Amino acid sequence: DNPSPRKPGWIRVKAPTSKGYGEVRRLVHDAGLHTVCEEAACPNIGECWARRHATFMILGDTCTRACAFCNVRTGKPSGLDADEPGRVAASVRELALRHAVITSVDRDDLADGGAAHFAATIAAVRQASPETTIEVLTPDFRGKQGALETVVAARPDVFNHNLETVPRLYPSIRPGARYFHSLSLLARVKELDPAMFTKSGLMVGLGESVDEVSQVMDDMISAGVDFLTVGQYLQPTPKHAPVIDFWTPESFDDLAARGRGRGFLMVSASPLTRSSYHADADFAELQAA
Ligand code: SF4
Ligand code: SF4
Repeated sequence: DNPSPRKPGWIRVKAPTSKGYGEVRRLVHDAGLHTVCEEAACPNIGECWARRHATFMILGDTCTRACAFCNVRTGKPSGLDADEPGRVAASVRELALRHAVITSVDRDDLADGGAAHFAATIAAVRQASPETTIEVLTPDFRGKQGALETVVAARPDVFNHNLETVPRLYPSIRPGARYFHSLSLLARVKELDPAMFTKSGLMVGLGESVDEVSQVMDDMISAGVDFLTVGQYLQPTPKHAPVIDFWTPESFDDLAARGRGRGFLMVSASPLTRSSYHADADFAELQAA
């Protein structure tokens, strides 16, 4: 086990107790759905669910990869749940979400990596709730010909794919992925549909330097990425990668300024930022601007 340094005071997480939290929890569980909020043990769950903002995780709850930072169960997944797109759509409607975020586990076992299931979920949400804007946070679809094109053709409003960490740390932190593949995926989305917003994010606290993070921002800008998120990595269990350092709120402000200076349309950088944190409010604000 690898112990992390003590959590500083600015990583404060309130226990989820609100009525809204309970309602979202009941609805999600009754529908037999998974959320990354729960599966990834997200520290913001109390706040997000109280505001009825949740991130659905499709394609099951078992991932074919095993990233060193991630709390999602790893192993051999079961078959595809054909009714899942419909149940996600019904929940989006019932929760009256103005912005739905849909992510998934990696399904390297499926020929298309789950792309058709993503597309079906987007279509089902559009049909059930035409006013809701849709953000997808996808796997890298590495080696799956045509998968990315399938998801882009379903026309989500925001296409998010996280780079997660700096290239030097990929072998230890994100061993199943390749930095430049993920970067080129983001560039390809813009090529396929220049009007689609693209988004990406990374965690700090795994031992990266400010210069390395700045370089990732430059790479994202070259790939045409519109929205940037940066948050503090927290070790979900002692078996996961240790936290090397806790970045201060001031260093996050500095990262945010660097991001804005580079021209991202939207930047969220704070200790508790996650890629879907405030995604609903931020997107609404951007659309209103
Ligand atoms: Fe869920 Fe994202 Fe909020 Fe975390 S930040 S609780 S993953 S919506
Ligand atoms: Fe977690 Fe995604 Fe890595 Fe799977 S691919 S282990 S869900 S971060």
